[in-house]
Amino acid sequence: MLGNVAIARGFLEAGLQFAAAYPGTPSTEIVEALSTASRVLGGKPYVEWSTNEKVAVEAALGAAIAGVRAVATMKHVGLNVAADPFFSSAYLGVSGALVIVTADDPWMWSSQNEQDNRWYGLHAYVPVIEPTGAQDAKEAARLALSYSEKYKRPFILRTTTRIAHTRVPVDTGEIPLEKLEPQGEFIKDPSKWTLVPQYARRKRLELLDFWDKVSEELADFPLNSVEGSGDIAVVGVGIGYRYAKEAISMLGAQDKITLFKVSTSVPLPRALAEKISSYDTILVIEEGDPVVEMQLKTVLQELGSRARVYGKHGKPLLPRYGELGLEKVVSALSTVLGIEPPTWAKEPPKPSGQKLPPRPPVLCPGCPYRGFFYALRRAVNKLRLKPVYSGDIGCYSLGVNPPFYVQDTIIEMGGSIGAGNGFSHVLRGDRDIVIAIIGDSTFFHSGVPPLINAVYNKAPLLVIVLDNHTTAMTGHQPHPGTGVLAIGEQVEPMSIESVARGVGVEKVLVADPFDVKDSETKLVEALRYVKENKKPAVLVAKGACILVALRTAAKNGIRPVPYRVNLEKCTGCGICYTAFNCPAIYRRPDGKAEIDPALCTGCGVCAEICPFKAFEPVEEPNPEWFKIMRTARPVY
Ligand code: SF4
Ligand code: SF4
Repeated sequence: MLGNVAIARGFLEAGLQFAAAYPGTPSTEIVEALSTASRVLGGKPYVEWSTNEKVAVEAALGAAIAGVRAVATMKHVGLNVAADPFFSSAYLGVSGALVIVTADDPWMWSSQNEQDNRWYGLHAYVPVIEPTGAQDAKEAARLALSYSEKYKRPFILRTTTRIAHTRVPVDTGEIPLEKLEPQGEFIKDPSKWTLVPQYARRKRLELLDFWDKVSEELADFPLNSVEGSGDIAVVGVGIGYRYAKEAISMLGAQDKITLFKVSTSVPLPRALAEKISSYDTILVIEEGDPVVEMQLKTVLQELGSRARVYGKHGKPLLPRYGELGLEKVVSALSTVLGIEPPTWAKEPPKPSGQKLPPRPPVLCPGCPYRGFFYALRRAVNKLRLKPVYSGDIGCYSLGVNPPFYVQDTIIEMGGSIGAGNGFSHVLRGDRDIVIAIIGDSTFFHSGVPPLINAVYNKAPLLVIVLDNHTTAMTGHQPHPGTGVLAIGEQVEPMSIESVARGVGVEKVLVADPFDVKDSETKLVEALRYVKENKKPAVLVAKGACILVALRTAAKNGIRPVPYRVNLEKCTGCGICYTAFNCPAIYRRPDGKAEIDPALCTGCGVCAEICPFKAFEPVEEPNPEWFKIMRTARPVY
């Protein structure tokens, strides 16, 4: 079972009734598994993909206030979006249960930063449970919901990439089917549910009392344990425990070590910290920042202990960046044991594999964004503009790479339009226009408020919404523009154009990204409008994610026809493999172009951009394929 699926299973075994999420790697599969379960179980528990993480936490909090067992799941940066209701939830508490899953991404496999969200737990006074593996993750999910229900407070379940995406056999328990139906009831009590100062002040004191109490009681948390009776204490936190266990056995150091398995990282239970403090040498192994190590050191200082504590703080034996790995842990443990580490662990591999040639990820062959970016560069050149490309998070972030260079900034979800507001009011000099590029799911996530801001404050910027009818980067989850709910029910899709018009954008255009000429014409029109009217415009480019289109075609028995190069016509001008850069096209030694038929998706855009008409399909294509390319939506 995948770690994330195990977490979903644990929630179901605890009688989960409500789940809300915005997709984000490495958290996505939790709610995917829950929505599959809900489909099978006739809509129980209630499961939704929310428009963003803030909405997900608000919705789950509302359900939990009404007495329901609820979870909200997200990747680590999602908690930044949800921070406002999250902090308030600690004060409010719940009637049922509320667990917030944060899936942290050390070494940023698919994220803009590395952040250890256990700090959020310390900051907001929300306990953090940290599983050590997939089996533990199932148990931790179950326990987190039941502890939340017991204390009537939100709990965080923190995972990291290796736990979320590890696949191992997991023992399962019963799912109490009769408990999954959400039956909320709101009991009116403003003193309990409103955070006006007169009540919030009292709640602050209650929260501190809770913190002291939970800090004592979590020492007996069922997933905490102690192994061995050696003189050196090793504190394995979350997945750090797995690495510690393996490293100890690899170095044959079982008789020298007492291994503390810690799943309650925040607050580190006082009784547990005191037990650890009785050792002279302590090594703390945790992924992310030294969150447990620093809490432990505080207790040691209070006790006047002279124990030497090793980890990531002070003179670190473990780095404060990237994922933990066996080499790093073996190396740290060897130092503590005073032995020579094995050669393979002496120099933990440097992150990012600098010795390999850099291979930046590329847009898929047949991706609608490629033709559109090509048209964008042409339109900008035609009008002799020097834009600032205010970028965003999604597949289109790849526009940062050559040959397009159409992402000058990438900040966070919705940041393209948000920062675009700022750029457009202050830019002087030769940067003469702002182009904000955002995807459809991201537009619904957090693109609407900054668009409202742009309209109201007359920010002259062009907002391009690349609408591929799905949340592509995380695996094709639905959003309000797709016309389907998490559990597969069809609903009326929301139109991005109507939303834009609804908030007051006067110039709204729709372009076909597979038609380079059409896109270029619309772009020129929109850019001229922004320049001349000093107001925002929105251009929606609609073309399906090619992966979804290929799947849809296969289901309908339609075979896309690959293209080939007519070498008689090809002059070797290089436009297709340099300026357009489809990965299926490569340069022959004689400078002419050639297509790898195994990669070609038959989108036909190369035939549009070649000035010498050298591209042609290998046989007559099925016109249905071109329709599918533009309109396909995932089937859920
Ligand atoms: S754009 Fe056309 S002519 Fe130029 S290299 Fe490619 S196939 Fe040949
Ligand atoms: S048809 Fe042309 S542009 Fe489309 S995938 Fe094939 S080679 Fe690339």
